[in-house]
Amino acid sequence: MFDHPSFDAHEGVHMFHDAASGLRAIIAVHSTARGPAAGGCRMWDYDSGEAMLKDALRLSQGMSYKNAMADIPLGGGKSVIWGNARTDKSPELFRAFGRAVNSLQGQYTTAEDVGVSVADMEIVREETPYVAGLDKGEAASGDPSPVTAKGIFLGLVETAKRALGTGDLTGKTVAVQGVGHVGAYLCDHLAKAGADLIITDIDQAALEAVATRTGARIVAPDAIYDVEADIFAPCALGAVVNEQTLDRFRFKAIAGGANNQLIVPEMGELLRRKGILYAPDYVINGGGIINVAAEISGNYSREWVEAKLARLVETLGEVLDEALSKDTPTNVVADRIARERIAAAK
Ligand code: NAD
Repeated sequence: MFDHPSFDAHEGVHMFHDAASGLRAIIAVHSTARGPAAGGCRMWDYDSGEAMLKDALRLSQGMSYKNAMADIPLGGGKSVIWGNARTDKSPELFRAFGRAVNSLQGQYTTAEDVGVSVADMEIVREETPYVAGLDKGEAASGDPSPVTAKGIFLGLVETAKRALGTGDLTGKTVAVQGVGHVGAYLCDHLAKAGADLIITDIDQAALEAVATRTGARIVAPDAIYDVEADIFAPCALGAVVNEQTLDRFRFKAIAGGANNQLIVPEMGELLRRKGILYAPDYVINGGGIINVAAEISGNYSREWVEAKLARLVETLGEVLDEALSKDTPTNVVADRIARERIAAAK
């Protein structure tokens, strides 16, 4: 563990096994310097325990950085459950997971992530109060995607100001990869702002719904990397900026909601050299965790969420400006500021 390449002085990495339900889970607490750790629970059919551990370590560190940049009083943590989200779920499994979360006595609060739904979290709630992203209850905040999408839209405008010389998106083309929860709301904002849209997804029904509403042009999933567009907004998968795709990009900026867009951090420098302005993913997509933080506080306030979101968009602007003025990759600047904020809270 301590010489694992993804280990970054994590405060705690907790393994859980429950024979009765078949639960195999890891809860990684990266840092509680800024407050109790918070981050979603991912259910994924990993190839190995090693792949599962690596995911937990990287995702929990990412949450520390995201929460620091959003300036919310939360540290970073994440949980992963090993299993197929379509075939391996049971109420017993999520109850056992709830007991695992509860055993950390509030050091970590969980929520939904890939493969885990609000309904699953309602079961977790039966075993622990340390869960957010619920539909019911006094401070329940529900689906965070609309807030995430609003933040991405505002962040994309900030990015456009610097990459295109204008924040007016009228007649500008944005290529959106993935029109799920976040991508579809983002498309609505962009269409309203006068942007021309090119969209892709593997879900035909989702594509047609968005195209009908916004007039977007649909392309095949792999074709999105080659389209002529001003801005690329990845809202589906991670690792979409890699050696293969980089050569194909003709965009002036990348600003989208997907987590872990760069396959390796060094891609940030390659984007810079190519003249593509990259809005660091964990900065631009922090709207959702701000919404979750409002719920965790026990006193959900729309005004607080809006104010934090506005400040996050300013922070993104500051990251982009510093990177541009110092000829430094934007992800390097964001990582440094996040680490400074975490260190200052210790
Ligand atoms: P989602 O599952 O609702 O949407 C993802 C969409 O991508 C789906 O429509 C899916 O069909 C599509 N997709 C999958 N593979 C694809 C491919 N190869 N090519 C094109 N499309 C493909 O998820 P979401 O909640 O909209 O989240 C999207 C991304 O944003 C994820 O990376 C997620 O981690 C990140 N994110 C989401 C939130 C949030 O509030 N939901 C917050 C922060 C970050």
